[in-house]
Amino acid sequence: QTFEEAGLLETVSRNVLKAKYFKPTPVQKYAIPSIIAGRDLMGCAQTGSGKTAAFLLPVLTGMIQRGLESGAYSPVQEPQALVVAPTRELVIQIYNECRKFSHGTIVRCVRLYGGTSTMHQMNDLSKGAHIVIATPGRLLDFLGRQKLALGKLQYFILDEADRMLDMGFEPDIRRLVETMGMPGKTERQTLMFSATFPVEIQKLAKDFLNDYLFLTI
Ligand code: AMP
Repeated sequence: QTFEEAGLLETVSRNVLKAKYFKPTPVQKYAIPSIIAGRDLMGCAQTGSGKTAAFLLPVLTGMIQRGLESGAYSPVQEPQALVVAPTRELVIQIYNECRKFSHGTIVRCVRLYGGTSTMHQMNDLSKGAHIVIATPGRLLDFLGRQKLALGKLQYFILDEADRMLDMGFEPDIRRLVETMGMPGKTERQTLMFSATFPVEIQKLAKDFLNDYLFLTI
């Protein structure tokens, strides 16, 4: 099975080939068609499994197929997709993949993380953001300042959920999901990834996902 057979948009699968990914990894093989079909997903997959592309490729495909406005300057951005990851390093890694896969499309990706001044990120964000990739703290900061609104989200992705809990982010994440509207009550599609699947993550999946597909690699 090739990436195109998995249902990706041509521009996106061309970028995948340019990145020298010739064959989907197992998590990509199963996740991509299900995400394109609109399913919520709980994916148990380690770093190195190709999980980043497994969610970015179908999300980019879905967003572009539904049609996007060009990322115009606006003081409040309303992105179509939000990826939350526990660390700055992971945010940067996901952002770099996102840039690579969205090349030649109108999709604009923006990264938000702590430990650095908000000014550049604020400026970056105000130029337009279709996909925001963020750590929880800095994300809540921007939401509090009303630089970001989540009313137009089509996709919410929680990456490395087990590490997120280990780092004490559960209250932040729960608050975030409450402000976005609970699953089943919105059109939003939610995707969760975690290396392990302890009781705490099972509970989070039950609370955040709607009629979800469980994938373990
Ligand atoms: P991840 O699990 O998303 O952190 O990805 C692990 C590494 O595998 C990254 O360096 C990717 O660039 C690479 N990778 C992901 N999918 C593929 C693929 N289908 N073919 C070759 N390399 C891949």
